[in-house]
Amino acid sequence: MQIQTLELPIGDIPGFTANCYIVAADEDSKNCIVIDPASRIARIESALAGRTVKAIVITHRHSDHVGALAALGEISNAPIYAHELEINGLAEEKASGSLSLGLHIEIPEKISVVKDGDILTLGDLSFTVLHTPGHTVGSICLYEESQGVLFSGDTLFCGAQGRTDLHSGSPRQMRESLSRLALLPDNTMVYPGHDQPTSIGTERHRALARI
Ligand SMILES: [Zn+2]
Ligand SMILES: [Zn+2]
Repeated sequence: MQIQTLELPIGDIPGFTANCYIVAADEDSKNCIVIDPASRIARIESALAGRTVKAIVITHRHSDHVGALAALGEISNAPIYAHELEINGLAEEKASGSLSLGLHIEIPEKISVVKDGDILTLGDLSFTVLHTPGHTVGSICLYEESQGVLFSGDTLFCGAQGRTDLHSGSPRQMRESLSRLALLPDNTMVYPGHDQPTSIGTERHRALARI
């Protein structure tokens, strides 16, 4: 699996970035999926380097993860996936955080829903949707078991868990979601929505040790 990480700036907020991931089966593969097209469509497009986007996946509704969603959807014509509980919140100023972040985000009309256990495939790769509410009610992680890779959105970070005090957040659901992630193998690499990657084994002694 080849994973390109784009650390994209969000609005005019100094130092605030979100991770967009471009994932391909290997470096020669012509196809990819894009996870959380957070902003800066020109940077995403140049990183794609002509690859075909087979799917765009949004880990959750927050506007710091979807700034280039509409543009990427238009350019690529790829299906866009989000959890069914996030669809309504995406376009709402309060629920999406766009109001507090001062962002004006265009949300595409056509978004396909996924739910826990759904599988998105890319070549030989199979990404299982894990519904991990807590940060928002419809937050998801994507787990690729054969390669031991988890895209964790804003649920699990390097040394921290996601906030639960925002709209539709729930500390109880976050504990349950983290308990579920803690069942994954220690060598699972974790690629979060912000900051550096980590692993389940590392977080078992840090963020996951606190649940
Ligand atoms: Zn978030
Ligand atoms: Zn975020």
